[in-house]
Parts: sequence; structure tokens; C-alpha cells
Amino acid sequence: MEYMPNFQLHRPATAKEAVKLRSDNSAAQYVAGGTDLIVNVRRGIEQPENLIDLSAIAELKLINEDKDGLHIGAGVTLKEVARNKKIVSKYQAVAEAAAAVAGIIHQQYGTLGGNLCLDTRCLYYNQSEWWRQSNDYCLKERGDTCHVASGGKQCFAAFSGDVAPALLVFQAEVDLIGLKGPRRIPLAKLYQNDGMDHLTLKAGELLTAVHLPKVLAGCPSRYEKTRIRGSIDFPLAGAAVRLKMKGKKVEDFAIALTGVNPYPQIVKGTDEYVGNAFDDESLDKLRDSVRKQAKPMKTTTVAPWYRRRVIGAVARRLTEELAG
Ligand code: SF4
Repeated sequence: MEYMPNFQLHRPATAKEAVKLRSDNSAAQYVAGGTDLIVNVRRGIEQPENLIDLSAIAELKLINEDKDGLHIGAGVTLKEVARNKKIVSKYQAVAEAAAAVAGIIHQQYGTLGGNLCLDTRCLYYNQSEWWRQSNDYCLKERGDTCHVASGGKQCFAAFSGDVAPALLVFQAEVDLIGLKGPRRIPLAKLYQNDGMDHLTLKAGELLTAVHLPKVLAGCPSRYEKTRIRGSIDFPLAGAAVRLKMKGKKVEDFAIALTGVNPYPQIVKGTDEYVGNAFDDESLDKLRDSVRKQAKPMKTTTVAPWYRRRVIGAVARRLTEELAG
């Protein structure tokens, strides 16, 4: 680990002030819980001259419910998301995903917004400065080669946030604020398939809140991930499933994945199960479809083929459980 570099710390009291500070200061970055960013700073990956601490912004820490659904501030901690009674009872997969992030200390400091904006991860990127230097860095940071797919110009670093897939199956939306004012977009549109630049945020934009629609509140859902150390690690592969049954037939069904692409991915083709009952054959078909759509690369110490097998098995098992 490197020493902490010199930087100036700013502590705004409002989201608007934070956005202004970011536009006024060169190489500024937002920091909330710091559980991801500060590690990257200590590894020399990030060297911000200005850090904008979001922890004093009260408006980011609210959870409200109204006729449209549940609204969660981006500064709400993962621990609170995991334990909030309304989230646990109405959007279970979201609470399970927050409870699955790293360890309890990370959940106490890490925030919902931070987990959604987590940098992508790779075996060749999340290393110390001397390790990366001795490997000539890589495309994502200071280098000109990808060690995962040499010869290519694409980065396949994996998005490894736990909460995004759980929010995606509930069709969540997010509020962003920038210099031109606020806007709301579907969470799915926050991401793109590029490990070097996986967020579609405009320069200086800040994620301020997440909205979960009332119409899907209470719909049965689950989240599960596989990791090397059960007590702390990022997902090697994770799946969220939301499944509403009418009798023995599927009424509404969604699956989203994490850890197997540079963005949290909504599984295509779940509509074709609507109106039918699940049996072994259709569950196997679903498992194979999930495996086919996941595209893990050699970005972890665990082989891609294994992560692909696991993601299919997890999605199949959760679906079978929810189908009863
Ligand atoms: Fe670097 Fe390639 Fe890994 Fe991206 S996928 S972080 S470019 S080694």
C-alpha cells in the first residue's frame, strides 16, 4: 500500500454544493463511505487532488415511502438498507444484497450510492502500485495492453456491486444531479458495457437517490452470490431473482446478474416463462440461458467457466425456491 497522497478535503452540506465544488476543483472525486475509493487511493490507482466528502449531506440519508413507492437516499448505509423493515418486507432481494456486501464493518460505512457506483474490478487492476508497474499496468490504468484479452482494446473488468442486480429486478430508477440540474433515469441506463467507463454519469454528476416502484412492492425476490471467502469478498457471480406466481403459473419474472460482466446485467428472455409452470426441463433451459448470457472473463483468480456454471446454478435454484 502507498501512503495517502496530499489532497484537499471538502465537506459540503447539500448535494448542489457538492456538484458545484466538483466543477470548481480539478481532479475532484466524490467520496461517501470510502470503502472502495480509499483502497484504490492507497494502491495508487486513484490520486485525487480534491476529495468531496458526502457524509454531511442530510438529504442523501433519507428513506421515504409515498404512493409511488420507496425512495432511498444514496447516502443511506448498506447496513440500514439491509435492516430497514420496509425494504426487508417489500423488496427482500435488495435487503439481502446489502447484507451480502463485504463484511459488517464495510456495510456500516459503505453507502447505497457507493455500491451502485463501485468501480469495476480485475485481477490485473486491483493490485498494489509496484505489482501493476512490474506488469506494465494495463489499458484501464496507465498501460496499453489488456492482460485478460491481449491484442484487444476493450476492458472486461467486472462490475461487482451486490445491490444493483436486486434493484434492477424491481425496475428501480435513480436521481442524478449535475450542473444543469436534476434528472431521473432507469437504473439500467446508469451502466454500459465498458470496464474502463461503465457508468453513464455526465462529468460531475452525483447520484442522489434510488426509487423502488410501489407496484412491485411485496413481490417475492431473492439475491445470492458466490465468493471465495464467505465473510468478506466481492461476488464472483451473483444473481437476483424476482418471481410472482399465480397458482402454479408464472405471472411476472425478472433476473439480473452481477460479477460476470462490466455492468449489472438484466437477463433476457424471462418473459417466455410467463403463463407457464416451471418443471425440471424449463428450469434447466433457464439455467442454460443464464450461463449463455453471462460473459465472465479471467478477471478473478477463479476460472470464467466455473463462474458461468455457478451463475446458472444460482439463478436456477433461486427461481425454483421462489416458484415453491
Ligand atoms: Fe486491465 Fe484488461 Fe483487466 Fe481491464 S480487463 S482491468 S484492461 S487487464
